[in-house]
Amino acid sequence: VLRVDDVWKSFGDDVVLRGVDLDVSPGEVVALIGASGSGKSTLLRTINLLEPIDDGQIWLRDLDVSDPRVDADAVRARIGVVFQQYNLFPHLTARQNIALALRHVHGWPKARAGAEALSALARVGLEDKADEHPDRLSGGQQQRVALARAVVSAPELLLLDEITSALDPELVGEVLELVRALADDGATIVMATHEMAFARDVADRVVFLDGGRVVEEGPPARFFGRPREERTRAFLARFS
Ligand code: ATP
Ligand code: MG
Repeated sequence: VLRVDDVWKSFGDDVVLRGVDLDVSPGEVVALIGASGSGKSTLLRTINLLEPIDDGQIWLRDLDVSDPRVDADAVRARIGVVFQQYNLFPHLTARQNIALALRHVHGWPKARAGAEALSALARVGLEDKADEHPDRLSGGQQQRVALARAVVSAPELLLLDEITSALDPELVGEVLELVRALADDGATIVMATHEMAFARDVADRVVFLDGGRVVEEGPPARFFGRPREERTRAFLARFS
């Protein structure tokens, strides 16, 4: 689904991505881990064309999304994204937040968008909150709405950036459960996360970024059980 090939990205003199390669197969769940500042968010943002890259290529199936002539809106319509926070428009209800994306990004007619939005909310267990504004929802419920909005149009790829790190601890579980359900349904997911237990449980592959490079990757059991690189061991030691 996704091929990131030798991607480089600098902010001024700060080289943030140093030749990152990442291949993601259909249905695969990839956990992107690494210290603060290692480049996880930047990598996700380059895939979604929120940051231009300096060198390398990014392919979404057979489309070269790093081609400057690419239609960014068309690319984004094929990718679902949820960030850490500030996901929802505060002046719109939960249902309107989802319907808006369907109407504007995907060009669906109003009635169909509204109906699909409601069924998306039902899938995340929030049908009864359809007409509430975000400030009347808990942080966990807001992230579930954001997830519903990200997957409502069955995107080819889901990018999740630390979607639980702004939540109170007691709300983390319901959001992770939903991610697990999406993964079980066959979604293709790349998620930056600090939730090591969740990465171990749900990811098919763990990718460790350090200083803008992929230092090590592997299936969770091997990655966490027998890390090969010294830098990986030093990073993981902080969580034990
Ligand atoms: P965290 O775990 O804290 O979310 P991260 O791995 O997501 O960290 P990034 O947000 O990708 O890290 O940041 C990588 C580096 O790029 C950092 O040094 C950051 O300061 C820098 N950076 C990110 N965005 C910008 C920007 N828009 N302008 C300048 N520097 C930036
Ligand atoms: Mg980040």
